[in-house]
Amino acid sequence: MNIVLLGPPGAGKGTLAALLKTELNVPHISTGDIFRSNIKNGTELGKKVQGILASGGLVPDEVTIEMVRDRLKNDDTASGYILDGFPRTIAQAEALDTMDEIDAVINFVLDDEEVVKRLSGRRLAPSTGKIYHIVTNPPKKEGFDDETGEPLIQRDDDKPEAIRHRLEVYRQETAPLIGYYKEKGNIIDIDASPSPETVLSAVLAALQS
Ligand code: AMP
Repeated sequence: MNIVLLGPPGAGKGTLAALLKTELNVPHISTGDIFRSNIKNGTELGKKVQGILASGGLVPDEVTIEMVRDRLKNDDTASGYILDGFPRTIAQAEALDTMDEIDAVINFVLDDEEVVKRLSGRRLAPSTGKIYHIVTNPPKKEGFDDETGEPLIQRDDDKPEAIRHRLEVYRQETAPLIGYYKEKGNIIDIDASPSPETVLSAVLAALQS
């Protein structure tokens, strides 16, 4: 099953994808994670996109589309995948249509106030990508990862100025995808405000029906 996760930044797409991946046994493909790993490893792509990610803007379509096209050629996508963070523009959605058939688009619905609360409290374990929240999902020892003990970090783009910019970019560039997929008839709205487990159950029920 080929699934796209849509929704504003901070709606919990990454958290849900990690849970859904185990349920469905298909890879979780996050364009944000691929960019961050390139930045961490100092690749040419990483150097090119570092400033863009830090400001909360979008990487140019042609770069992102080619990266996804390559990734979807990998054998592990044979029985499906979960796309998280792609497409983010109409041009990307049109390109994806030429690559594959999408079975379901899950649209996470969350208001701006909650988005800001979630993003500003989000912390990450840099080596594993494990996600915490300082209030709703804190680590056992404040500031440190439960598994590795490493210090948690805050993404540059989870700082207030970048959050505002990302929300604006979402509204301008990504929200129009809701209409795009509504016309195709394969989009399911899911309330992203409850706990990840509740959201997961709602997503699984929606995918089955
Ligand atoms: P995310 O982890 O999905 O929030 O993505 C982090 C950042 O990576 C975004 O703010 C963009 O700068 C970049 N990015 C991720 N996916 C895309 C995409 N599909 N198109 C353009 N830029 C992207």
